[in-house]
Amino acid sequence: MTGTADEPGHEGAPAVPESAAWLKGELLEIASALYPDRRPVVVREWTDPVRLRDPAPVGHRFLFLVCAGRDDHLSSPGFDDALNAFDAAGWNLHRRTSDHPGESAATVRREDFEARIHEGKGPGILSFTGWTPVVYTEGRLGQPPFTRSTSRGVLCADCHGWGVCMICEGRPYSGGSGGYGRCWCAANNAGPGRCIECAGQGLLTPEEASWKRRRYGLSDDDSGDAFPRAAAEGGHDSNTSAFIDVSHRSCACGEFRCFWRNNLSRVDGHLLSRFAGTCQGCAAQRAYVFTLPLA
Ligand SMILES: [Zn+2]
Ligand SMILES: [Zn+2]
Ligand SMILES: [Zn+2]
Repeated sequence: MTGTADEPGHEGAPAVPESAAWLKGELLEIASALYPDRRPVVVREWTDPVRLRDPAPVGHRFLFLVCAGRDDHLSSPGFDDALNAFDAAGWNLHRRTSDHPGESAATVRREDFEARIHEGKGPGILSFTGWTPVVYTEGRLGQPPFTRSTSRGVLCADCHGWGVCMICEGRPYSGGSGGYGRCWCAANNAGPGRCIECAGQGLLTPEEASWKRRRYGLSDDDSGDAFPRAAAEGGHDSNTSAFIDVSHRSCACGEFRCFWRNNLSRVDGHLLSRFAGTCQGCAAQRAYVFTLPLA
């Protein structure tokens, strides 16, 4: 389910459209403007396949996770400088969030493009996650409310996040021969009805997500805002390197998509880097901890 086809360059991966190439360049350019003496790192690039009723995707969203550096953080530019850099490049601040003490997060938009800026506590890593609108292979469909990576929850297994009945898919009721009968959602004379499974929300209910976690043997306690505990690992000499590692690991449910938060602290002569996030596939709390040498 981690599907290498979700990563550009692999066999079966969708061709990278111009919009995705532009976005990647834009994120790297903004990071370079912020840290002229450091090369920004593309931590991971992937796609969100978008489906209707058939298993084959009808389109893809392209996403890029860029680490703007700052392993020797204290004197470096930080979150506000990053917001200014996006502003100078023509992006608008959409929403500023501060859900977690010591961390900073915001969403910026430019036309149909969106990016999430996050700075960890410590300060931890400063990262940009940017995404394109959904690019359809053929035909013109509207934009879904969200895709696997950008939803605030786990996509409904029946409507894949659309929130509408996938049997009538928004087509008008045609009746007669050659058409199909009135759909069971009973709303398709005026367009598709709401998805019955998720009541139009496009997301699994908390009970369904919990059922999914249990199915994969995952802990079901909701620790809320607390950083879950995990055994410390070695093997990395920089926080960026640990970040690349974490972003390529998958949850037990098979999903790798996760917005990672990072907290950095100094403990007994080394750095302790904590990563935590909520799995986009089952809403499990995921966490990793690394010991890093002092810079
Ligand atoms: Zn649904
Ligand atoms: Zn229907
Ligand atoms: Zn999961």
